[in-house]
Amino acid sequence: MDITQLVQDITARLRQESERGQVADYIPPLACIAPDKFGIAVVLDDGSLHCAGDADEPFSIQSISKVFALTLALGSVGDQLWNRVGREPSGSAFNSIVQLESEHGIPRNPFINAGAIVVTDVLLGHLEPREAIGQMLRFVRELAGDDTILIDESVARAEQETGFTNMALANYMRAFGNVHGDVAKVLGTYFHFCALAMSCRQLAMAGRFLMDEGRVEGRRIVTGRRARRINALMMSCGHYDNSGDFAYRIGLPGKSGVGGGILCVAPGVASIAVWSPGLNASGNSHLGQRALEMLVQRTGWSVFEAR
Ligand code: GLN
Repeated sequence: MDITQLVQDITARLRQESERGQVADYIPPLACIAPDKFGIAVVLDDGSLHCAGDADEPFSIQSISKVFALTLALGSVGDQLWNRVGREPSGSAFNSIVQLESEHGIPRNPFINAGAIVVTDVLLGHLEPREAIGQMLRFVRELAGDDTILIDESVARAEQETGFTNMALANYMRAFGNVHGDVAKVLGTYFHFCALAMSCRQLAMAGRFLMDEGRVEGRRIVTGRRARRINALMMSCGHYDNSGDFAYRIGLPGKSGVGGGILCVAPGVASIAVWSPGLNASGNSHLGQRALEMLVQRTGWSVFEAR
């Protein structure tokens, strides 16, 4: 199948859509992004890259960074991480605080805000914020094979100025003893992770290790077992209270961010990134999901489809 043609077709189709969802408006740097942006990039197992639309324009990856933070934290403390964060879908909004009360400050999973804040705190167990941010930047650059990836400081600053819910989450977990470090340092680091700016091309390249059993171009990043487990978490928890519907419609591990990006993995087959800034009610890219649905329907890449 001609994947380049397919992603071009999908882009042409979706560019005509009038129903795009709502662009995130909680911080000015996201609110000013043009809603008609659309990009898609697919890296196949043979290394070939297929792009269309605004695939080379960097956007704020936001919660997609939770995948890279989790990978680093597992590398740092291994399965001990699971003493402090769960592995169950939350069925709640990305920034929900309600479950923390009955679950004694243990977040449901690493892909909601509360979980990613704990993951960040774990990384800060042996690093200063500056070092942890540097480690993250080096990691995504290595995964993508691209040293031009940057953190958008204006996004990090705006998150800091408006992040009252995240402050509440971090302080609440601190009260339960599940955030160990200084709350301001933990949040400052978390906001810098969210402020990573990457294009679809860079993101799809960075997802290759999840496609290829933990390897990138033959180099081992994580074990095959760990890559499979991260994929499992992306499938069950990667889209907040919309994760079930994402699995139903697309059938692939995926992680979204409020910047409108989605990183999606077809194990052994493809690493895919899509970007369309308009969001659905759960804060996931509306057209991004449509694009993935069209891609999977045409290719049969769902993990639930017999090969
Ligand atoms: N920076 C955002 C927040 O912490 C990330 C949320 C998201 O992408 N869903 O609220």
